[in-house]
Amino acid sequence: MAMVTTNESLQERKKRSRRVLGKLRKTYGEVSCALHHQDALQLLVATILSAQSTDKNVNKITPALFEEYKTAEDYANAERSVLEQRIHSTGFFRQKCKFIQGACRIIVEHYGGQVPETMDDLVRLPGVARKTANVVLGTWFGHNEGIVVDTHVGRLAWRMALTWRSKDSKGAVKIETDLMELLPRKDWAYFAHAMIHHGRLVCLARKPKCEQCALAKWCPSAGMFESS
Ligand code: SF4
Repeated sequence: MAMVTTNESLQERKKRSRRVLGKLRKTYGEVSCALHHQDALQLLVATILSAQSTDKNVNKITPALFEEYKTAEDYANAERSVLEQRIHSTGFFRQKCKFIQGACRIIVEHYGGQVPETMDDLVRLPGVARKTANVVLGTWFGHNEGIVVDTHVGRLAWRMALTWRSKDSKGAVKIETDLMELLPRKDWAYFAHAMIHHGRLVCLARKPKCEQCALAKWCPSAGMFESS
């Protein structure tokens, strides 16, 4: 998709993004991470599993998985073929198994079995880039160190012209930097969860429902998809 442009100043864009944030709160109230979890390790594992999969798919297998593997040590010492089989249905299971076991070995060896709480430490774990680290930090630890930019947040930021420096849609870190400049830090985690929710319900990838969209008033792409 070509970059959506507006003539607004940074100040105006900030104002508009805060209106979007307010409307998201009004429309959706409290929304949180859709991945089921009860501790930081479960959230970390579920987030690694969610790559190239859906939260729904991940939520189907995690109750049994979390019952069987309770600690980082359990994952680190697991029989690889057994763990692969447990996570098979989420796709890319060999790679994900390698990431989970690699991350858990480091967690056991360097962090006393506890998931670390800083961006620097988290992104050193295999399979953990800023997106996964932001999910764990924002959702579990309540630290707003960044904004989760997944496929939904990236798509919506583009359509709503809340990112302006990225030349291509793969620039997740650039999109994140733009959003961080626009929004108050305390709202970063909420904003990502609400945008993901909105992307799943209304601003769909193929055919966004602009006519039903509560954010249309502040979206320069509103109505652009009607004939598609
Ligand atoms: S108006 Fe349309 S393109 Fe803009 S956020 Fe809403 S659904 Fe998405």
